[in-house]
Amino acid sequence: TYVVTDNCIACKYTDCVEVCPVDCFYEGENMLVIHPDECIDCGVCEPECPADAIRPDTEPDMDEWVEFNRKYAETW
Ligand code: SF4
Repeated sequence: TYVVTDNCIACKYTDCVEVCPVDCFYEGENMLVIHPDECIDCGVCEPECPADAIRPDTEPDMDEWVEFNRKYAETW
C-alpha cells in the first residue's frame, strides 16, 4: 500500500485524489490519508504529490504511518 505522511499537512493540492483509480483517499484532520486495504498499489498518485508526502509502505519505519492512515480512513 501507499500511505500519506506528514508532508501533506496544509498542502492544498488534491491531484492525488483525482488520479486514484479506486478512490481510496479520505480526509484526515489536517491532511489526506489512504485506506491501506483499498489501495491497489498502482503508484500513480506518488508522482502527482507536490509535497512528496505519498510514500510506499515498503520504505523503512512506515508501520506507524500505515496505522495512522487506516485510523483516519476508517473514520468515514
Ligand atoms: Fe490510489 Fe494507486 Fe495511490 Fe493506491 S497507489 S492511493 S490505488 S493512486
